[in-house]
Amino acid sequence: MGDVVPFQRPAKKRPKQGLCQHGYHKWTVVKDTEFDSKQGKLVTRYQCQRCGKQKVEAR
Ligand SMILES: [Zn+2]
Repeated sequence: MGDVVPFQRPAKKRPKQGLCQHGYHKWTVVKDTEFDSKQGKLVTRYQCQRCGKQKVEAR
């Protein structure tokens, strides 16, 4: 709790996305615990190492 992580945007748009365009992203955890006000519960935020796409998953 209390950790403030600045918003991260993808550094560059990479033309080579490889498997990403087929839906196979390389997810890494950006934030282990984050409160999603939309869902009203804790979620884990992931970001794809290749294309920078983000997703959240309910814990
Ligand atoms: Zn990706």
